[in-house]
Amino acid sequence: MLENVNEKCAVVGIFGHKEASKLAYFSLHALQHRGQEAAGISSSDGEKLHTIKKRGLVMRVFNETKLKTLSGSSAIGHTRYSTAGDDSILDAQPVFARYDLGEMAIAHNGNFTNAEEVRAALIKKGAIFQTFMDTENLIHLIAKSEKTQLTPRIMDAVKRIEGAFSLVFLSRTKMFAMRDRFGFRPLSLGRLPNGGYIVASETCAFDLVSAEFIRDIKPGELLIFKEGREPKSIQIFEPTPKHCIFEYVYFARPDSKVFGQSVYQTRKNMGKELAHIKPIEADVVIPVPDGGVASAIGYAQESGIPYEMGIMRNHYIGRTFIEPTQEMRDLKVKMKLSPMTEIIKGKRVIVIDDSIVRGTTSRRIIRMLKEAGASEVHMRISSPPTTDPCFYGVDTPDKDKLIAANMSTDEICEFIGADSLAYLDSEALLRSVNAKEDNYCTACFTGKYIV
Ligand code: SF4
Repeated sequence: MLENVNEKCAVVGIFGHKEASKLAYFSLHALQHRGQEAAGISSSDGEKLHTIKKRGLVMRVFNETKLKTLSGSSAIGHTRYSTAGDDSILDAQPVFARYDLGEMAIAHNGNFTNAEEVRAALIKKGAIFQTFMDTENLIHLIAKSEKTQLTPRIMDAVKRIEGAFSLVFLSRTKMFAMRDRFGFRPLSLGRLPNGGYIVASETCAFDLVSAEFIRDIKPGELLIFKEGREPKSIQIFEPTPKHCIFEYVYFARPDSKVFGQSVYQTRKNMGKELAHIKPIEADVVIPVPDGGVASAIGYAQESGIPYEMGIMRNHYIGRTFIEPTQEMRDLKVKMKLSPMTEIIKGKRVIVIDDSIVRGTTSRRIIRMLKEAGASEVHMRISSPPTTDPCFYGVDTPDKDKLIAANMSTDEICEFIGADSLAYLDSEALLRSVNAKEDNYCTACFTGKYIV
């Protein structure tokens, strides 16, 4: 279970459906795991854009009355994860703006790596910013472009930005969807059952609204949706795929298909690889829920050791603000995760998790399992050691807080109190996701940054 690592956002776009904002709302529910701090939807009725956004979970931000005000047949939506300190409502998305061509709204998943540089240049030319979001840079770039139509302006603007972005734009009459040239973050296209289209960060949103998956939007591709015609594709950048491998390890929902593959199946493959390269004798394999579940099933199937749900997760715990003492911190983990004593007591346990970031949560989990009577606890991690922070849309702690950047595996094992600790290696991870040559970003395991 990853501590302090969060996907920053999810985006959705609905075009050509009379209940566009309702479908965006349901889709955002499916994407809630990618951001819980704020949610928003902008819709267009052909004349005007309407926006509602607020801090909180999707179900708290919207209700029937609010959704009725988001009228029109196109809508874009966003769920946001924000780091501490930038939790202002101004930083919720979509970002709405009026400019010389009318109105537009933008929602963004990712991180612009040259955001500060672009912002400084814009400020020098007199631009005034209201938020700390990268997305606002785009608004200014589009508004200041000398082109006379929106599509060329968007093309102009995205050529000025670098980094990771999956974007949806809404104007009065069109919707646009785009991925950066590396395709770091996923974005898929689907067809709605009664006509119209959906784009979403993950295909689990399609399932909820009964949409049919068409294809992934290509890295560097801009899709333009206009009433009465098929989406038009413009390949703005030469595609150079570098998909975020962490989507498979942790972020994406297991029932999604990202970058063309089932997340559940790739996680199971990781578990099988782990059993193959890091075997150990034990009585039971258990996952740290939810992140370790599919890998633990794979590990158990490959090793022949029985799989059990040895830890139960309480899904109804939100944020807790009880922090001060060690005892209270342990209580916080126990509120979320409870050991199944009858499964663990007297057993040699293999516990599977997706990653270790700071190590403090793993330490508490192992202590909890030993207190529940496990005779041995062997921790197996279904990804390589997380040694480097992400600059492409995932909020990770700085390098000095990443335990694997500062300790050897043996030292981490001792710190977390396990009887043994082993990670999946990079080659096995790439095999698990059927990587073709070099089409994945693995920078948080290797420090090899792409941009
Ligand atoms: S650095 Fe890690 S989390 Fe960030 S995009 Fe690359 S693989 Fe994904």
